[in-house]
Amino acid sequence: MSTFRFDSKTVHFHKRITSESVSKAQPIYQTSAFKFRNLDELEGFFQGVKPYMYSRVSNPNTDDLGTGVAQLEGAPAGIATSSGISAILAGILSVTEQGSHIVACEDLYGGTYQLLANELPSFGIEVTFVSFEDKVSIQSAIQPNTVLLYTESITNPLLRVEDIEQLVRIGKKHNVHTMVDNTFASPYLLQPYLNGVSLVVHSATKYIGGHSDVTAGVVAGDEALIEKAKSKVVNLGSNLSPFEAWLACRGMKTLSVRMERHVKNAELLAGFLSGCDGIGQVYYPKNASEKGNGAIVTVSLDEGIDANEFCEKLDWIGVVPTLAGVETTVSYPLGTSHRALPPSEQKKLGIHKNLIRISVGIEDFEDIREAFANALK
Ligand SMILES: *Cc1c(COP(=O)(O)O)cnc(C)c1O
Repeated sequence: MSTFRFDSKTVHFHKRITSESVSKAQPIYQTSAFKFRNLDELEGFFQGVKPYMYSRVSNPNTDDLGTGVAQLEGAPAGIATSSGISAILAGILSVTEQGSHIVACEDLYGGTYQLLANELPSFGIEVTFVSFEDKVSIQSAIQPNTVLLYTESITNPLLRVEDIEQLVRIGKKHNVHTMVDNTFASPYLLQPYLNGVSLVVHSATKYIGGHSDVTAGVVAGDEALIEKAKSKVVNLGSNLSPFEAWLACRGMKTLSVRMERHVKNAELLAGFLSGCDGIGQVYYPKNASEKGNGAIVTVSLDEGIDANEFCEKLDWIGVVPTLAGVETTVSYPLGTSHRALPPSEQKKLGIHKNLIRISVGIEDFEDIREAFANALK
């Protein structure tokens, strides 16, 4: 080492960490690849003795996130990906092939709708969108080449709680897989894998990360399916970066304490807004889980109220087209998540110009209440 010349010294200066010093926090393996002492050791990776070789294939931080979320879901395996959307794609591709058909619920998150409606056809995968509110429409959409039923545990933005047990029964009866996007509920509230769903997917951008500072996704399920999903992530290059994974993992440590406060505040806010002049309908789930009904409240403002003006008057509550951060924010489904839908679809789903979705944060409830009360005044 000491014999290195200047230019070499600029790159070879790190002190090797020995096994005597163990970092309390999980280190960030911000590396694109791993080093081997010799060819035998490298071969060890392919023999399954050495866990890491190249970060697109696997990395300790991304593994932490994938397996961490899987454990919260009660699933044997999970893989982290670059976004919620890429997790959905990896999950779907693990159970489909060219010529496959999917039955999906019609009130999906807008980005998921785009993926399913506009991109999957170029993979030779066909999707039929139906209302999942009644069993009959799901069953009658199933074709001989149907391989998957796809839905969300709590839907966006009107917060319909899916009947997961019924869906699993239909799936089993027709011998097709079921996949559930559990983003809005988070595993704190619901664990669809334990109800028999084949694959559970998360936008870890939301409650798992919890601080609106990372875009990431996870798909969880049994070993065989996740192995397939993993090969899609590796081959399509939709892996997550180590730092993003590390951030999401750090956020996940406080999932329970955040959710407890999020849910409590949301319940109080839904109750408060139900009695307010200027608020038409308040959408907030009932009996979603034993631990509460989530932290998203959607409201329909009265005709006479201008949505733009209302948002402006919310003071410190920002208009942010995402959800699940520690700060209370509002979003506008018509202008963002559901913008791309044809007007007829928007109308059918109940997305209109006075619909506001509130992502309730972890602040003091009184401050949240005051902000809404003042805006409505
Ligand atoms: C945000 C979101 C997604 C997409 O996740 P990204 O991380 O933005 O790719 C999928 N499903 C639901 C329910 C979401 O809220």
